[in-house]
Amino acid sequence: MTDLTDRLWAGDSLSDDEWRYLIEGDYEKQALFHEADKARRRYYGTDVYIRGLIEISNFCRNDCLYCGIRRSNANVSRYRLTEAEILACCGQGYALGFRTFVLQGGEDAYHITAWVAGVVSAIKEKYPDCAVTLSLGERPRRDYEIWYQAGADRYLLRHETATRSHYEKLHPPEQAYLRRMECLRNLREIGYQTGAGFMVGSPFQGTEELIADMRFLQEFRPEMVGIGPFIPHRDTPFSGYPAGSLERTLIMVALTRLTLPKALIPATTALGTIHPQGREMGLKAGANVVMPNLSPANVRGQYSLYDNKACTGQEAAEGLTALKESVAQAGYRVVESRGDAVQAE
Ligand code: SAH
Repeated sequence: MTDLTDRLWAGDSLSDDEWRYLIEGDYEKQALFHEADKARRRYYGTDVYIRGLIEISNFCRNDCLYCGIRRSNANVSRYRLTEAEILACCGQGYALGFRTFVLQGGEDAYHITAWVAGVVSAIKEKYPDCAVTLSLGERPRRDYEIWYQAGADRYLLRHETATRSHYEKLHPPEQAYLRRMECLRNLREIGYQTGAGFMVGSPFQGTEELIADMRFLQEFRPEMVGIGPFIPHRDTPFSGYPAGSLERTLIMVALTRLTLPKALIPATTALGTIHPQGREMGLKAGANVVMPNLSPANVRGQYSLYDNKACTGQEAAEGLTALKESVAQAGYRVVESRGDAVQAE
């Protein structure tokens, strides 16, 4: 196994059989996690970066088959934060030590370009030492440019799966695979630190699809990669499918760290949701970011992407002290900084 991980680290491309072995082979997974941890320590030491996640709206014009806030779900009570509410979240987050704010939402048609730009510039004006990350889905290139000019630093847009036929099984026909990929390229060209990513164990995903995801990451080289297990939501067409496995998710986190040693990789909320120690295990498998929830407490339950999504305790920004302790117990250290990706050598 370590001959393969050494080659990954060296930037080699692996054959299908080699990838298959790494993803589903019968070898000691702790050894893989250890190799990934070595790679993360080389560039980031024991630093863990924190991001305050503000879920600004759960209105969505899309209908992703896996997602609880899809437009067809009539059981969601929809909300949208005002600019003042978002700024209040940032104020609380700043006092707690957050130096990155992530504005995430459904694809809300009400979020006209200028409104988002105004919110971004208001945050940057008030907190010039903070980074702003947007995660607002697919938009025309012009919108991404305007938001970048307004001061947004990073953009998260998971590719979801790098296999077109698989993408088409997870989304309705009007959501095109090529458009999502084009959005990622646009973000990158504009200058954003760009985040891609995928779910592990989504319906119809096999090892082939995961290999395609790894090859996509190897080629696109995003600065950030979000990887979490698929978790079913009761009001979606995928309600009857099983959740992705903890071990498979950790393997994909570790392989991503070895493929992109300098990437910012969160131990995701979904990982923390499927197992009480999921987040710590994610950190030990190569993740170096956590994103506690900084949304106003009264709306947290409504941003329900999947069942039982964790948003309290250490997943909540107020739980930061407890989070710091468990990160320390895992052998790392939460640091108060913007936490940008280390630059290419
Ligand atoms: N509208 C934004 C944000 C989407 S929500 C966008 O399109 O980028 C953020 C991520 O949550 C998605 O990219 C998806 O990978 C993940 N997600 C959605 N439903 C999920 C589920 N049922 N289980 C696990 N992750 C899910």
